[in-house]
Amino acid sequence: MNTSSSRGTVTTTQRKIPPMCQHQPACPTSDSADRDAARLVAHHPEQGWSLLCNGVLLFEDTGELLPDGQIIAPHRVGLTMTVA
Ligand SMILES: [Zn+2]
Repeated sequence: MNTSSSRGTVTTTQRKIPPMCQHQPACPTSDSADRDAARLVAHHPEQGWSLLCNGVLLFEDTGELLPDGQIIAPHRVGLTMTVA
């Protein structure tokens, strides 16, 4: 089944990402290996995610959602999380 265009109506409402990173030094891009070293531009610990300057959504389990929709599995396995 080819439903690749089933959700083609993309609304450009939510994310306000500046066209260029304005930090010094510049943040790693979303396709860089150290992408999660970018600055936080939004932090929602109560929801368990943060938005990085390069558009990457970083989840508290270290999973990531890239701006192009690619999903990165959590990679810090063995990390002891303190669940209050
Ligand atoms: Zn930046």
